[in-house]
Amino acid sequence: MSVAVIGAGWAGLACAIDLAAAGLRPLVLEAARQPGGRARGVAVDGQRLDNGQHLLIGAYTDTLALMRQVGADPDALLTRHRLFVASPELRLALPPLPPPLDVAAGLLLARGAGWGEKFRAVRAMKALEAAGWSAPPEQTVADWLAATGLAGGVLARRLYAPLCLAALNTPLEAASMAVFARVLWDSLGAGARVPGATDYLVAAADLSAVFPDPAATWIAARGGAVRTSARVKSLVPAVAGWSIELDGAAQETIEARQVVLAVAPQHAAALLPDIPAAQATRDLLAGYRYEPIATVYLGLSPGIGLARPIVQIDGPAPDDSPAWVFDRGAAGNPGVLACVISARGPWQALPEAELARRLLAHVRPYLRAAGQKAPLRDAPPLAWHKRIVEARATFAASAGLGRPAAITLAPGLHLAGDWTWAPWPATLEGAVRSGRRAAAAVLGTARENG
Ligand SMILES: Cc1cc2nc3c(=O)[nH]c(=O)nc-3n(C[C@H](O)[C@H](O)[C@H](O)COP(=O)(O)OP(=O)(O)OC[C@H]3O[C@@H](n4cnc5c(N)ncnc54)[C@H](O)[C@@H]3O)c2cc1C
Repeated sequence: MSVAVIGAGWAGLACAIDLAAAGLRPLVLEAARQPGGRARGVAVDGQRLDNGQHLLIGAYTDTLALMRQVGADPDALLTRHRLFVASPELRLALPPLPPPLDVAAGLLLARGAGWGEKFRAVRAMKALEAAGWSAPPEQTVADWLAATGLAGGVLARRLYAPLCLAALNTPLEAASMAVFARVLWDSLGAGARVPGATDYLVAAADLSAVFPDPAATWIAARGGAVRTSARVKSLVPAVAGWSIELDGAAQETIEARQVVLAVAPQHAAALLPDIPAAQATRDLLAGYRYEPIATVYLGLSPGIGLARPIVQIDGPAPDDSPAWVFDRGAAGNPGVLACVISARGPWQALPEAELARRLLAHVRPYLRAAGQKAPLRDAPPLAWHKRIVEARATFAASAGLGRPAAITLAPGLHLAGDWTWAPWPATLEGAVRSGRRAAAAVLGTARENG
């Protein structure tokens, strides 16, 4: 059976791995010159960096399983850290207690927040648990913070808002509480279901080496192929399946019995075939909005790093949300910090040099010389900086957002991609799970939905 997967992001690759493991020879068609999509390595002045700094968490069970399957050892390629928050106002760590006691104790022992709001936070989490980690579809995260009495407090500012922005990439006033509740269930609320679900997993290599490159090699070794620089122009029904026309002078056409469309939502509508069964998905996609993510790399001297692998700092502009800063030392970039700014905001108007200067000023209290505990006395010189903005990094996980009701639109035509994995926001794990579900649809086997 011939199967084509359009898009070699983490969704398309995950799909092709499961197809190849089942004995098929999937052909993955990728427009870019390398696989990985929105999570890939890039070369910047001879250094291997990422198109955007990513954070994985222990709850990403399918991603970790597929990494192992393709020979990308997560224990070597990711460093694992117990959840903590190091920020200007709040310090929180999870004590070594069995879940869910660790989360409750972590909240209650947090330094920087008052007892009143700590108890309100524990009560709010209990109430969410009692509600089955669900929320009304139109409720926003800002509504929830107001309803629980947490709005305006340190925990809202330094825990819930940064978590929401990191996971949903959507401003609190628009962000879906139902999606955020699901994120909380899969992480803080995972308990014994997934040991270490809240752990931070930070890449110890560039993102291409973590999954896309080993995945493409593994697929090819089993008779499949990941063909790069192959942009699909159109998809039309054929006598026995689908006809895929590639962009380019050669006017190449590929026939496949089954097709998995695994592209980002902003690219999916244009590729959906002109058939009545695809209209509902096209209408749904017309309502999608997108949010940017910036990664600002700061190049310091190789002997300087962060006191913790990740810290949270104030945003670069006064009314910006906080930024997360990662020490890239473990990824082979000693002296390099990656500052991540999620969702639209005043930072977008700042010139790169000014953005870098402000971020460096905010991160300064967390800088340490190698082997030292005390903060640096003098501001370190900034050797270089590089801002990479993904203008449509993710779909906005807004309250009321519609997600595809079904992923098989017509016989032999299936959808994958982060946007199809409801009710998660746009994440690597959502992409991977969606790809695996599409593979199951191709193979005619069942897989849990959402
Ligand atoms: C800067 C940034 C930071 C992020 N941070 C995190 C994070 O910390 N943690 C996390 O879990 N997630 C994070 N995400 C989200 C995560 O990267 C995405 O959810 C995930 O990569 C989506 O994978 P995908 O396969 O669904 O889509 P994509 O990665 O978009 O893959 C789709 C592929 O299809 C290809 N394509 C498109 N059109 C065509 C065509 N016509 N023909 C052939 N190929 C085509 C594209 O080139 C692309 O390679 C971040 C995203 C960005 C951009």
